[in-house]
Amino acid sequence: MSSPTSSPTTVITNIASLVTNDPSLGDGSPLGLIQDAAVVVDGDRIAWTGESSKAPATDNRVDAGGRAVIPGFVDSHSHLVFAGDRTAEFNARMSGRAYSAGGIRTTVAATRAASDEELEANLTRYLAEALRQGTTTMETKSGYGLTVEDESRALRIAARHTDEVTYLGAHIVSPDHADDPAAYVSLVTGDMLNACAPYARWVDVFCEKGAFDGDQARAILTVGKAKGLHPRIHANQLSYGPGVRLAVELDAASADHCTHLTDADIDALANSATVATLLPGAEFSTRAEWPNARRLLDAGATVALSTDCNPGSSFTSSVPFCIALAVRDMKMTPDEALWSSTAGGAAALRRTDIGRLTPGAYADLAFLDAPSHVHLAYRPGVPLVTQVWRRGVREV
Ligand SMILES: [Zn+2]
Repeated sequence: MSSPTSSPTTVITNIASLVTNDPSLGDGSPLGLIQDAAVVVDGDRIAWTGESSKAPATDNRVDAGGRAVIPGFVDSHSHLVFAGDRTAEFNARMSGRAYSAGGIRTTVAATRAASDEELEANLTRYLAEALRQGTTTMETKSGYGLTVEDESRALRIAARHTDEVTYLGAHIVSPDHADDPAAYVSLVTGDMLNACAPYARWVDVFCEKGAFDGDQARAILTVGKAKGLHPRIHANQLSYGPGVRLAVELDAASADHCTHLTDADIDALANSATVATLLPGAEFSTRAEWPNARRLLDAGATVALSTDCNPGSSFTSSVPFCIALAVRDMKMTPDEALWSSTAGGAAALRRTDIGRLTPGAYADLAFLDAPSHVHLAYRPGVPLVTQVWRRGVREV
């Protein structure tokens, strides 16, 4: 097999089981699972996927040694532009104190005080940590600056390292505007948006008691949308509220957390293109109730699974850990959890070129030191990812 641009082609063979996420392939399940499989990589893309015995000739050959190969994880929700540490808060919470959104202020103060270099070093450290665990696409947000300058610099730094950048000036009302939330909403929808929009693809709001209510969230997302940013929402995390229905109303790509949902919320998600993104690292690290994944899945909603990696409520960059939680405690099947953390994450970012291993998609994939993806939940806490390729290049 040769390519018109004559970039060398590589076949990865001897794959015990391959997750393609194309139901027209392999076993016909949503995972499109192929046993004894091969993948052909041409440049940065997948050129061919199928049974080993039918693989076309290529320039190079890599033997997977009977390992499983999966699409690289698509982590569609993280907060990696920050400085400082919340160990003391976590320690206190694990000693019985409840989590409240106000803890974000600690990170805001540390982030404002940090240099650009410190913020970038922190960001790249966690991106590399996630990559080693199989994550090849990671969305990340601002939200710890809360001034025009600090939000725009967070996004400028993030945009150097990922295409999936989210403006979250509306994380909490800035402490500088604690007495006048309306003035802060005006800033978020005015000067701050203008400074941030060039670096971001998405606009997000923490719609929650103590953060922003439904009307404020609608105003922020609507103005962001008019500025060319697509909405996503932190919705229904700590309490019931208007976030999920607002997400559907505004055709947000994703409603994230979805921990407290009414039947009407679930119906709305199931009948929309808005993905329900579950972030069980947050429930784990705050000892909160799990989101009800089964209700969402059984109703027909599209579910994504991501880390919410942030220093306050979910300081894990590990998608395999979230998969184990989703299977053990949220009653997702191992197949559903794998799909949700790859194709589901891609859907939450409205992408079809990642999260699957089919011709034309980016060659973003992970090798597992295991015969199948089921081991990600079956062997919790074990570092099973042995190789990670991104855009056709082995990076781990
Ligand atoms: Zn979040």
